[in-house]
Amino acid sequence: MSNKTDDIAKLYDQYLMPTYSPAVALVSGAGSKVVDIDNMQYIDLTSGIACLACGHCHPAVTEAIVNQAKVLPHLSNLYYNTNMVLLAQALSRLSGGYKAFFANSGAEANENMIKLARLWGHEKGKYEVITFNKGFHGRTLAMCAATAQDKIQKGFDPMPTGFAYADYNDLDSVKAAINEKTVAVMLEPIQGEGGVIPADEAFLKGVADLCKEKGLLLLMDEIQTGMGRTGSFFAWEQTGVKPDLFTLAKALGGGLPLGAVLARPDIADLLHPGMLGTTFGGNPCACAAALAVITTIEKEGLLEHAKTAGEQLREGLEALMDTYPQILEVRGRGLLIGMVVEGSAKEVVDSCRMGGVLCCTAGEHVVRFLPPLNISEKDLEEALEIIGDSLEELYGE
Ligand SMILES: *Cc1c(COP(=O)(O)O)cnc(C)c1O
Repeated sequence: MSNKTDDIAKLYDQYLMPTYSPAVALVSGAGSKVVDIDNMQYIDLTSGIACLACGHCHPAVTEAIVNQAKVLPHLSNLYYNTNMVLLAQALSRLSGGYKAFFANSGAEANENMIKLARLWGHEKGKYEVITFNKGFHGRTLAMCAATAQDKIQKGFDPMPTGFAYADYNDLDSVKAAINEKTVAVMLEPIQGEGGVIPADEAFLKGVADLCKEKGLLLLMDEIQTGMGRTGSFFAWEQTGVKPDLFTLAKALGGGLPLGAVLARPDIADLLHPGMLGTTFGGNPCACAAALAVITTIEKEGLLEHAKTAGEQLREGLEALMDTYPQILEVRGRGLLIGMVVEGSAKEVVDSCRMGGVLCCTAGEHVVRFLPPLNISEKDLEEALEIIGDSLEELYGE
C-alpha cells in the first residue's frame, strides 16, 4: 500500500466506525475508468455497486446536477417539486402507469413499500411479508428482518416482526410460508448480494399465480436489477410477471442518493397526506440526475447495449472456464453477472484490482461484475484480458 492510501486508511481507523473495509482511494472517474490517489488507473466493473448506469461523470448527468445545484439544491416537500413530478411522470411511462413515492436509499424505499403493502392489508388484519433466504433488502432494522441472512441479523436481535422466509426458486416453500396474516411476497428478480441468482421463469410465474389465487401482493425489489441493468428498464419486463409494487434506488439517482416506490395506482391511492414522508425524498438535484439518466439510457440505446455488452462479458468469462476449472459457473442477465469460483471470491477481486480491474463479491464464492451500461467493447475486452491474467496469477501452475 502506498503512503497516500495508507494515510487515508489510518484516518479511517481513527475517525470512522469500523463498518467497511475499503481497498483503494479513488479520486476521479470518467466513463468506465477511475483513477486512485496514487495515479493508478482501473477499469471499473462495479460502477459504484450498480449506481452509475451511465458511467462516471456522464456529461448529461453531471450537467443536470450542477445546473440544479446552482438554482435550488433543496426545497422540502412543503412546496411543489417540479423535477420530482417530472421524474414520476417518466417512471409512470416506463412502468405502465404506476405512481411514485421518493425516498433516499434502497432500504428506505423498501420500508415504504412494506408500509404500503401493510396499509393495503390492514382492514383484513394482514401484514406478514414473505421474503427469501439469501435475499437482500437493506440495513434498516426492518429490512434486516426482511433480509433472511444470518450475517445481516446477528447481534441485532430481536428482529422486528412481520416477515416469514421461503427458499428462492422453490414454490412449495412459498406455499408453506403462507398463513392468514400473509399480505405479500417480496423478492428480487435476480438475487444480487446473495450471489447473482436469477429467479427461474416458472418460479416467478408460479409466485405470481399464487399471489393472485391467495389475494396477496407481489412486491419486487429492483434496487439492483432496475434502471437498465439487465437489458430492460426493469428486470420484471423480461419475465412476463408484473409486480403490484416495486422499488428502485442504486442507479436511479445517477450517483446521488435516491430511492423510489412504484405502485399500482389503486394501491397508491390508499395513502393520504402525512402517511409517508421524508425530508430529502425526491431532492431536486437527485431527480434532475435521474431524469438525465433515463434520457441518456434512451438516447444512447443503453438497454440494447447492456444486452450485447453482457453477452461479451459472459462469453469472455465462460471462455476462461476452459483454462481454469476453479470457475464453476457464470450466470446473470445483461450487465449483472456472477462468476462462481471454487475458492475465495475476495481473492479473485483482490487479484483483479492489483491488475487494474475493479469488481466485487456477492457472497463468499461469487465474483460480481456490474459495469456501467455504456462500457465500450474495447474497455470490456481489456478488462477481460486483465481478469484472465489475474486468474493466471492466482490459479496458474
Ligand atoms: C443495495 C440494495 C438494497 C439496499 O439499498 P441501500 O441504498 O443500500 O439502502 C436493497 N435491495 C437490493 C436488492 C440492493 O441491491
